Amino acid sequence: MNALTELHHDIDVRVASIRENQPDWLCGKGCDSCCKRLADVPQLTAAEWDLLREGLAQLAPDHLQAISNEIAALARSTARPVICPLLDRNTGACPVYPYRPVACRSYGFYMQRDLGLFCGDIEKLVAEGKLPDVVWGNHDAIDRRLAGLGESRALTEWFAEWITEALENN
Ligand code: SF4
Ligand code: SF4
Repeated sequence: MNALTELHHDIDVRVASIRENQPDWLCGKGCDSCCKRLADVPQLTAAEWDLLREGLAQLAPDHLQAISNEIAALARSTARPVICPLLDRNTGACPVYPYRPVACRSYGFYMQRDLGLFCGDIEKLVAEGKLPDVVWGNHDAIDRRLAGLGESRALTEWFAEWITEALENN
C-alpha cells in the first residue's frame, strides 16, 4: 500500500465509523453542494494528480473535451466559490469518483480546528444538536500526511500540462 492508498484507507475507516453511528448522515450520491461551492480551485499533490489522471484518461474523448473547456474557463475566472469542473451538473455525480482527491473523501467528515466544519449543511445540523457524539476526523493530520505526497499545484495547472497529449492520443 503506498502512502496515498494508506491515507484513503484511514479516511474510509473514519467515514465508515461515523456513518455507522449516524445512519442518516447527509453525504451521499447526488448531494453535490460541496462540489458546487469550493472555496478555490482544487489543489492536488503530485500523488493525487497521478491517481486523478488515471480516472480522467478513462473518460470518453467528448467528455474529456467538455471538462477541458470547463477547466480552461475556470483558469481564466476569479469568481468564487468555484464549481468543480469535473462535476456532472445534470446528475450531481463525480465522473472520477474512485480517483477523486483526498479533500473530496474527507469533506463532511473531518474538521480543521481553526476553520471549523467545511460543510454548511452539516454545520447547521450540528448547531441544531442533531448530530451528537460525532468523533470528527482531524483535517490537520490529513494535511500533514498530504505534505509528504509531492508538490501541490492547482488542478488547472496539472490538467493544462496533460490534456493536449491525452486528447492527441485518443
Ligand atoms: S459534505 Fe455536505 S454538501 Fe457535501 S456531500 Fe456531505 S452533506 Fe452534501
Ligand atoms: S472531483 Fe468529484 S467529488 Fe471532488 S469536487 Fe469534483 S466532482 Fe466533487
